[in-house]
Amino acid sequence: MPWPKGRKKGVENMPVGRRFQPGDPGMVAENNPAWRGDRVSYSGLHKWVAYHRPATGVCQVCGGEGYTENANLSGEYHRDLDDFQELCKPCHIAHDAERRAA
Ligand SMILES: [Zn+2]
Repeated sequence: MPWPKGRKKGVENMPVGRRFQPGDPGMVAENNPAWRGDRVSYSGLHKWVAYHRPATGVCQVCGGEGYTENANLSGEYHRDLDDFQELCKPCHIAHDAERRAA
């Protein structure tokens, strides 16, 4: 939501509904969609990948069909479809283990 024109920025000038008090659920990063926490961008990126490359249900490593997940190749979570691969659960786990060991 764009900031209203002519309104001074600052908590006290926030439109009603955007004002967070300490202890509000909105103050917690996970509950606040506007909060640019790592967890938020991580899940946002996965949604972006799922949107731009719908799952085929075929693992790109072993060719197995069924449940697949988007695995990040570089571990740096680039907004780049080439940085993601659709893997079945066992291949995803193996890929993550390999990346951590590297
Ligand atoms: Zn696989």
